[in-house]
Amino acid sequence: MNERVKYTLNEDDIPYTWLNIAADFGEPAPILDPATGAPITRAELCRTIAEPLVDQELSTEPEFEIPGPVRDIYRQWRPTPLYRARRLEIALDTPARIYYKYEGVSPVGSLKPNSAVPQAYYNKQIGKTGLVTETGAGQWGSSIASAAAMFGLTAQVFMVGVSYRQKPYRRALMEAYGAVCNSSPSPLTAAGRAVLAEDPDHPGSLGIAKSEALEVAYANPDLGYTRGSSLNHVCAHQTVIGQEAMLQMELAEDYPDIVVGPCGGGSTLAGMCFPFLRDKLRRGRDIRLIAAEPVACPTLTRGRIAYDHSDAARLTPLSRMHTLGHKFVPPPVHAGGLRAHDISPLISRAVENGLMEAVAVRQHACFEAGVLFAREEGIVPAPESAHAVRAAIDEALRCREQGQSKAILIALSGHGHFDLAAYEKFQAGLLPDDEPSDEDLELGLSSIPDLARA
Ligand SMILES: *Cc1c(COP(=O)(O)O)cnc(C)c1O
Repeated sequence: MNERVKYTLNEDDIPYTWLNIAADFGEPAPILDPATGAPITRAELCRTIAEPLVDQELSTEPEFEIPGPVRDIYRQWRPTPLYRARRLEIALDTPARIYYKYEGVSPVGSLKPNSAVPQAYYNKQIGKTGLVTETGAGQWGSSIASAAAMFGLTAQVFMVGVSYRQKPYRRALMEAYGAVCNSSPSPLTAAGRAVLAEDPDHPGSLGIAKSEALEVAYANPDLGYTRGSSLNHVCAHQTVIGQEAMLQMELAEDYPDIVVGPCGGGSTLAGMCFPFLRDKLRRGRDIRLIAAEPVACPTLTRGRIAYDHSDAARLTPLSRMHTLGHKFVPPPVHAGGLRAHDISPLISRAVENGLMEAVAVRQHACFEAGVLFAREEGIVPAPESAHAVRAAIDEALRCREQGQSKAILIALSGHGHFDLAAYEKFQAGLLPDDEPSDEDLELGLSSIPDLARA
């Protein structure tokens, strides 16, 4: 066994194509028009999303070529490193071999630019002058702000209010890149005003921020609407992660028995897992894929599979997926990126078909894992990433109990340098560990439209 700790690739090893797992899943469930409930037309999707991205969204081709200018920008930080977590293994006294692929080396410190850069590129290509989007914890907003600046586009970002207040430096970062960042719900849109009228102190949700961004995009055809997760094309863009990781595991002369990723909208999981999933489907590799979500927003473990909207004002098309209901508002956990009521339809399908498992982890347990990881490996994980670290540690401890040596690969989606206020609260014992009540959940679930309960 090769005992190196860091597995580095060359620029030539950056993939030339994105992998589209929709090709492996058979006939996709149609996306439905929010107005009519009938399958949506391409033209309708193109009203807000750039046409080349709509093509990818609806495609069942196995791969998409990565445009040269996008791959050139990727070279700034890709290939990202993959490490063996030796010190963590020793601290856990586990026979497991733990690896992590680190996406925190991108300019904004997370995986999000893998999709923000191509989305800015395609919008520029079709003549848009600016981008509008929503963001939870601010990772996607800062990635869009940076990508827009690279392609000479404006950027307007609606940031979930609770995160806007908890993470002022994410907002400052967006502004440094030249973007405008609004706290959501905002008085700038009808969707925002409706929420504020009911509750002026509303904490906001990703669903509400989405409604606001979409409303702005519908009103201004020069602006391209972009999404940071869930959609098929976003999942495809992120597969550069898993494709590189497969090469790096070869360098390590190893192959993962278990791959773990954090689960918000599902793009990290998709990016890391889908290349391995294709290996499993086409070559019969025996591998477990695990989605680690917060108990505070348990989409995969307590949600329903149904057609639902992705936003609170019901402007987005209806997709078939796991959902907690578009009215669900999670408790204000700090892992702001994992607050979506819904999930990528492709991840949902993988879970439904038994190709991927889901676990829900508590916030305190995640921060405990994050602190241990920081002390042993030197990297402070983003709170979202800490969910995957927690689930991986639990698997490694199980290996210890059972005396089994398994290879565990973690998708470490970003660093936590903008989340230190949450780490500070955790250390001081002031971080809540909320779980939605049955009533909170029922309220959300009852907002799932009846039209086509799957
Ligand atoms: C956005 C984000 C996530 C969660 O979103 P997914 O689409 O589920 O990956 C996880 N980690 C980091 C660092 C993020 O920025």
